[in-house]
Amino acid sequence: MPTILLLCVLAALAAPREPTDAYQRDRENLAANLSRAGIHDQRVLAAMRTVPRHLFVPQPYRLFAYADRPLPIGLGQTISQPYIVAIMTESLEVNGSHRVLEIGTGSGYQAAVLSGLAREIFSVELEPELASAAKERLQRLGYSNVVVKQGDGYEGWAEKAPFDRIIVTAAPPEIPRKLIEQLKPGGRLIAPVGTEGQWLEIVDKSLSGRITSRRTLPVIFVPMRPAPKR
Ligand code: SAH
Repeated sequence: MPTILLLCVLAALAAPREPTDAYQRDRENLAANLSRAGIHDQRVLAAMRTVPRHLFVPQPYRLFAYADRPLPIGLGQTISQPYIVAIMTESLEVNGSHRVLEIGTGSGYQAAVLSGLAREIFSVELEPELASAAKERLQRLGYSNVVVKQGDGYEGWAEKAPFDRIIVTAAPPEIPRKLIEQLKPGGRLIAPVGTEGQWLEIVDKSLSGRITSRRTLPVIFVPMRPAPKR
């Protein structure tokens, strides 16, 4: 018996370094697939390899957390498909000095992916229940440069404006005017826009304040809802 035990210990020591959690290998595969699918920014791929998406989805869906698909997060809302999170993050071209506004915190996953790439993330969520769950989750997992508040994304976050980057993760019928106003000159906003068919739109504000926009991909997002009247 002791010999067997010794052999087990030796085998364990000789084994390749164990994954940090049970899903590490799934994340490696996801990142490899995203790379094959055209995501080239190594920082984005590293974030996709690191952020534990399984901790952002409800328990029954954990096994599917690293499949490239959206999943329900409650209250009729969804966490985006990893490819969409990755392409939006890459298209945003964030750097470590940027202050980023996110509209539609949802589970907090997109904010967690941005956390390591930007200086600060300010995220606004309409649903009080989702906002408080995401706030608690992000804090618990150590994403300390993400601030979440419950509020109406159509208003942006005036007290924290202007922002270097804005990412909208629910689809408005058109780009909300206040968000354009809260974007810094030289800044970029990305949003899924439309009601029937939606397109991912990238909006750039030049240093002189000129706005240009282009459509990139057809996408499917939950609608960005007007705040309920009080
Ligand atoms: N980024 C999220 C997924 C967003 S799903 C993630 O990584 O999990 C879209 C979210 O936008 C939902 O949680 C929805 O409640 C929220 N939302 C819809 N309308 C909104 C509005 N007007 N202001 C803020 N959030 C809104």
